[in-house]
Amino acid sequence: MTVQLEIDLGAIAGNWRYLAGLNQGETAAVVKADAYGLGAAQVAPALAQAGCRTFFTAHLAEAVALRPLLPGARLLVLNGLEPHAAADFIAHDIIPVLCSLEEIAQWQAAAVRLERRLTAFLHVETGLNRLALPRRDFEALRDDRALLEGVAVDTVMTHLIAGEAPEDERNQQQLRDFLAMAAAFPGAKRSIANSPGSFLGVDFHLDLTRPGAALYGLNTNTAQAHPMLPVVRLSAPILQVRAVPAGEGVGYGGTWRAARPSRIATIGVGYADGLHRALSSRATAYFDDTPVPLVGRVSMDLATFDVTDVAANPGDELVLLGPRHGADELAREAGTIGYEILTSLGRRYHRRYINA
Ligand SMILES: *Cc1c(COP(=O)(O)O)cnc(C)c1O
Repeated sequence: MTVQLEIDLGAIAGNWRYLAGLNQGETAAVVKADAYGLGAAQVAPALAQAGCRTFFTAHLAEAVALRPLLPGARLLVLNGLEPHAAADFIAHDIIPVLCSLEEIAQWQAAAVRLERRLTAFLHVETGLNRLALPRRDFEALRDDRALLEGVAVDTVMTHLIAGEAPEDERNQQQLRDFLAMAAAFPGAKRSIANSPGSFLGVDFHLDLTRPGAALYGLNTNTAQAHPMLPVVRLSAPILQVRAVPAGEGVGYGGTWRAARPSRIATIGVGYADGLHRALSSRATAYFDDTPVPLVGRVSMDLATFDVTDVAANPGDELVLLGPRHGADELAREAGTIGYEILTSLGRRYHRRYINA
C-alpha cells in the first residue's frame, strides 16, 4: 500500500468532448505546467485521441517534449518567442504566440532567412496587462502592415480578466475591444475563451477556445452548476493510529489539542507533496463516506487526522482528493484555487493512469 494518485484519462477526454460539444469553433487544450500537474505525456495523447488538434504549453521545452507524442497536432507556446529561439521553434514545428513587436521582428527575420511564410498566433492586450502585445504596438502593426510581412497570422487571441465571474461587465467589454482589434487582421481566426470563458456563451467561443482547468475537472465558474467529470483521486494508507489522551497536543507546536480522548491517524503525505501547510487543522479527508478532519500542523511528509468517530485502522485508506472532495474543495480549505492544488501535486506519489 502506498500513497496513490489516480488520474482518469477517460474523464479528461470526456471533459474535452463536453466542451467541444458546447462550441461551434475549434476546442484546443492547454497542457502547460505538465498538464496542470497531471502529466502532459499521458494527458495530451489522450486528448489527441479524443479529437483535440491544438495544444498550448507555456514554455518551449514543454512543447518540444510533447512534439513526438502528438504527430499532426498543432503545438503552441503561450509565453512567446524568447530571443534566439526561432530556430528551435521551426526545427520542432512549434508555433509561437507572439507578444511583442520584438518577437514579431524575430519571427519575420526567420521567415526572410528561410524564404517562406511562418505561421504565428498574435496575443493582443485587452486589459489583463500581463503578457501580450501592448496597445501601442498593436496600433503600430495595424498602421504598418510591412511589420508583419512574411508572418502568417493564423489566429489573434486575448485573455480574459474575470471570466469566472459571468456577471462581471469586463467580460463583455473585453470581447467588444477584442473584436474591434481583431478586425485589423482580416482572415485571422479569433480566440478569447479559457475554461471560464467557455461557459460565457457562444459569443465568447469565436473560432477557438483554450480550456485548461475544466479539462482537469475544476469548476471555473462558481456561479454555475459544475458539469465536469472528476479526474483525480488521491488516497493514502494510514501508517499508524494512536490514542491521544484529552489535553495532549498533536504535531509541531501542539497547535491542536485533543478535547476528548482521541484516535489520531497518521498518513505519509505532507506539504512536500502539495498538502499545503496552510491546511493545518483545516483540511478534510474521507474515510469511506465519512469526512475526517486534519488536525495539527501539516509536516513535510506527514499529516494527522482525527479518526475518533470512525473505525479506521492502520492500512485503511484516507481519500484526500476524490469525487466527494476534489481539488476545488481542498483549495477552499487552503485559501487558494484548484489550479494551485493540482499544479503542486507531489512527484512522490505512485501515479496510476486509468481509462486510457
Ligand atoms: C492558462 C491559460 C489558458 C487556460 O486557462 P484555464 O483557466 O485553465 O482554462 C488559456 N489561455 C491562456 C493565455 C492561458 O495563459
